[in-house]
Amino acid sequence: MYFREFGIPARVARCYEVEDLNKQIKKYNGKKNCYTSVYVFDDVLDKEGGKTNYNSASLNTIWFDFDHNKNVEKCLKDVRKFIRRFCNPLKITPRVYLTGGKGFQMNIDFHSIVELPESLKRKAIQEYLKHLKKKYHLSTLDDVCINNSVSCMRRIVNTAYISKIEGTPTGVWCTQFTVAQIMDSGIDTLYAMAMEDTGAQYPPIKSPKAQRNFVEFVCDMLEIKHTVSYGVDYLLNKIEEKEGSISPSSTKSSEYIMPPRKCVIELIERNIKRGHSGHEENNVIAMELINGGWKDRDISFVFRSIYDEAAGDWGWYTDNLNEAGRHIITLRAKAINRYSKDKLMTLGICKNKCRCI
Ligand SMILES: [Zn+2]
Repeated sequence: MYFREFGIPARVARCYEVEDLNKQIKKYNGKKNCYTSVYVFDDVLDKEGGKTNYNSASLNTIWFDFDHNKNVEKCLKDVRKFIRRFCNPLKITPRVYLTGGKGFQMNIDFHSIVELPESLKRKAIQEYLKHLKKKYHLSTLDDVCINNSVSCMRRIVNTAYISKIEGTPTGVWCTQFTVAQIMDSGIDTLYAMAMEDTGAQYPPIKSPKAQRNFVEFVCDMLEIKHTVSYGVDYLLNKIEEKEGSISPSSTKSSEYIMPPRKCVIELIERNIKRGHSGHEENNVIAMELINGGWKDRDISFVFRSIYDEAAGDWGWYTDNLNEAGRHIITLRAKAINRYSKDKLMTLGICKNKCRCI
């Protein structure tokens, strides 16, 4: 199940739903600085000892932390510069927050979750932020947030800023502002508003262009060619190939039928139950079933059961019961081997006790 971490700022709890988070906030707000992880993680993919696998992060946003130990105006200048030069031309509406201390937080939100291979997520976010920092001369963009990448913790909106020296509230609240407020108000006005505990909260405006910009950056990072005519899904497949998550096989394995392994069948059952499956998990499932000699209509049935909704243009199935989605057709044509046991173990799908090969 997906959860978010809560911290003060040490990570003290997992929150599986908004209710859980609200309980923690109620307990600590006004006494401690309240933080939460930028991303949600999947506890099915926990590391040994129940430790969070940060590479299981669902990448649906990019988070920016602007910080300066003396002059918060420098942060505001950077935020405005980034909005003018990056967000506005791409028609991206960011979420912007005054932390209550000497900094700003900002998010740009993706149209949907970007399903990168786990091995790539941390680096992709780090490099993307470094690239934006350099390109737009964002001197106050905090290197700690860049380095923490997938495991970043952010200050929670509408919680009190607690002085690190006295341990008491300073009277300033972590406050969200509209882009217009950020562009038009001076720093004093913003702080005055942040002392009023406005409770303002504006929902994310999910942007296909923000998503595309990030995916294209990852393609550049891996030297994958891209043009506007390639869809994001296609590019994500290319990224996975390049990362070695799936590799075209030299022999034509489709002649040789291998029954699906127990751990993959369990993955299917789990994902049907939770009504969701990651892009890479879908590849695992598809390759397993193709190599298991399953027919298009049966594979299609599995994916339809997981998502239990109209096919849309995701490519895992179509609305025609007898027809496979375009990913299945592509994967079949490439005659790719199913995932190795090693790879399944890295992904947390196969565990030590599983006796599959
Ligand atoms: Zn296994």
